[in-house]
This record gives sequence, C-alpha cells and structure tokens, in this order.
Amino acid sequence: MPRSSKTKPENPEMKPSIYSLTRDQLIDWALEHGQKKFRATQIWDWLYKKRVQSFDEMTNISKDFIAILKENFDFNPLKQRIVQESADGTVKYLFELPDGMLIETVLMRQHYGLSVCVTTQVGCNIGCTFCASGLIKKQRDLNNGEITAQIMLVQKYLDDQGKGERVSHVVVMGIGEPFDNYDNVIRFLRTINDDNGLAIGARHITVSTSGLAHKIREFANEGIQVNLAVSLHAPNNELRSSIMRINRSFPLEKLFDAIEYYIQTTNRRVTFEYIMLNEVNDNPENAQELADLTKPIRKLSYVNLIPYNAVSEHDQYSRSTKERVDAFYDVLKKNGVNCVVRQEHGTDIDAACGQLRSNTMKRDRQKAMAKAAKHD
Ligand code: SAH
Ligand code: SF4
Repeated sequence: MPRSSKTKPENPEMKPSIYSLTRDQLIDWALEHGQKKFRATQIWDWLYKKRVQSFDEMTNISKDFIAILKENFDFNPLKQRIVQESADGTVKYLFELPDGMLIETVLMRQHYGLSVCVTTQVGCNIGCTFCASGLIKKQRDLNNGEITAQIMLVQKYLDDQGKGERVSHVVVMGIGEPFDNYDNVIRFLRTINDDNGLAIGARHITVSTSGLAHKIREFANEGIQVNLAVSLHAPNNELRSSIMRINRSFPLEKLFDAIEYYIQTTNRRVTFEYIMLNEVNDNPENAQELADLTKPIRKLSYVNLIPYNAVSEHDQYSRSTKERVDAFYDVLKKNGVNCVVRQEHGTDIDAACGQLRSNTMKRDRQKAMAKAAKHD
C-alpha cells in the first residue's frame, strides 16, 4: 500500500506502481492527501484513457501534487527487453521486473479482436508435467500493478503504431497460477474492467486455473462476470494425478463440486481446456469419460482441445496426431459436448507458455558463460 507522502521510502525502487491502485483505492488515496475526488478521476483518466507515460504529462494536475505522486509511486514498473512479431501477427514481449526477473506477455490477433495473455507469477509451483512454466519453481507473485502494466505496455505498442487499435480481450493464461495469487489478480481484473478506464468487458476476460477448488468457490462470489477456464487435461483421477499433481489435493470430485457451485452461483459457462497428448490422454475411451464427466453441466460447459506445444525438457510427450484429435472430437460431438479444436498462434516465435522466457534465460546464461570463459 502507498506510504504517506511525509515518509520518504528508504529504497526508491520499492515504491508501488501507480497501476497498483484500483480506481476506488486511488480515490481514497487522493482524499487522504487532501484532494477532491475529481482529482483522482483526472489522474485515472491520464493513466487509462490518455495513457501518458509519466506523471509530468498530467498537465491539469498541480506541480505540488505531481511531486507527491512521484514521492509515493513509480510509474510503469516494467522494462521492455524483447519484442518478437510472428507472421500471423502474434507479438511476444519479454519484460523485466524491477528486481531483474523476466516475464512474458503475448498479443494475439483473433478474428474477434486483439487478445493479450498476461503472466501472474514468476515461475509456478503447481508443477504440471507438460508445462514449461512448471519447470521453474515460483520465485514470486506479481503484484497487480505489474500485471496491469503488461496490458499498458502492449496498449502503448499499439498506440505507437497509430492505427487506433485497442486491446479488446484479456486471457489470464500466461506463466503462473492466477488463483495462487488471488487478491492481486482480482484487483487487476477490476482495474482493466473499470468503465472509466480501459473498459475491457468482463465477458472479454478469461481466467484459467489448474483447479484450486476453494478459490473457484471464492471467485464465484466476487460478482464479476469474467469467464472461467479450468485446465482439465484428463478425465479420471488416476491419469490427471499422474500429469497434474494438483489433482492429488483437489481431485475431480472436489473440483467438479466447486465448478457446479460456480455455475449455480453465476449462471455462467465454464470452459475446460484439454491438451491433446499423444497416446497419453487422447484415446476415444478418454473422450467418452470426458463426455460422461461433463454431462451434468452439458449446457453450461465448453471443451477446448489444445495442441501440445513441445517443451524440450518434457520429451515424454508429443502432440496428438490429426487422426487421434479427429477421433476424440467425434466422440465428444456424438455425446453433444460443445467443443472446438483450438488454433495455435505464433508458432514461428517462442510461442508456447513460458518458452520465450526460458529460451532468453538460456541465451543469457550461455552469453554469461562465454564471457566468463573469455576471462579465464
Ligand atoms: N496456471 C493456469 C494458467 C496458465 S497455463 C492453468 O494452468 O490453467 C495456461 C494454459 O496453458 C493451461 O491450460 C495449461 O495447461 C496450458 N499449457 C501449459 N503447458 C502447455 C504446453 N506445453 N502446450 C500447450 N498448452 C500448455
Ligand atoms: Fe502452472 Fe498452469 Fe503451467 Fe500448471 S499449466 S505448471 S498451473 S502455469
């Protein structure tokens, strides 16, 4: 939380980003600092509508109050390290956090708009066996300012191109388990959804979880109309526990109880993500199990079949063949399951979840080793 303007922070790098305040928090902060509510509204407008890059550009705010803002907040906490654009228009960004750690963000051009995939943690403790992010233990949570800043830098990239393009959709599907960083993710969602700011519609935002059942219940009670996706990837406990160890803490019975609670409470549809792993979870019998498992929530559920992105460290897996995907899909369709085979984006760049980051870290390590060798 922001400090009082009277106390100077010991380490200026530790100041929170201005993006870490929701609009209500910014109003409270401005009131606490002797300002009227409209002053906070003006600042919010500069941040999210005019999208300035520094406090000094806020020309209708007095110099004195800008000094107080600067004393208490940093602006954008992220530095852009690398931008890769692929032939299909996907853009991948590597950002550096104030403590030097690296995160990645992806912009995807979809037929319905521009969608951004954000990172919520550095590394991930859930440790799914097929995931590049799970290889790196969680080093820390991102705070909500750092999550919001990813959207702001992507939007700046678009603003700089001058075509008037806007980020219209957000998927919380980058590195990290969003429900293991729950409060920051909720504040981030409220910030980008705010009508007076970026105004990204709740129905255009999707949060994906590996299945923390108690958090799914909490999310149901938030009263935000954001879409929920659940990474299922297996239709029975034995198989799911073997590829996702989270299933040992939250087995399918607990997970589906929470999902049913979510559906009853919100009346919203849940999407199941299912990575197609060749000869692991892609038998027609698995498709039948999946159809049976989701039967009680047939009308309010949807299945996305996802192509596996090879991760060199996980060479036990390969992508399902087209024939196996088609056969799996047919069984689901015959059972009346709403499902789609998801398209890939940016396959010519380091597109899979976590790959740009891990490849850049590998390159950085190799460079450092080469440098050290030179000095020997
Ligand atoms: N932790 C959350 C959100 C981030 S992962 C979750 O697990 O849902 C986002 C999605 O990418 C998840 O569905 C995840 O299972 C999927 N994913 C992870 N590794 C993948 C890979 N190698 N290929 C394809 N999808 C992958
Ligand atoms: Fe974490 Fe999601 Fe990767 Fe699993 S799939 S390790 S929960 S980021």
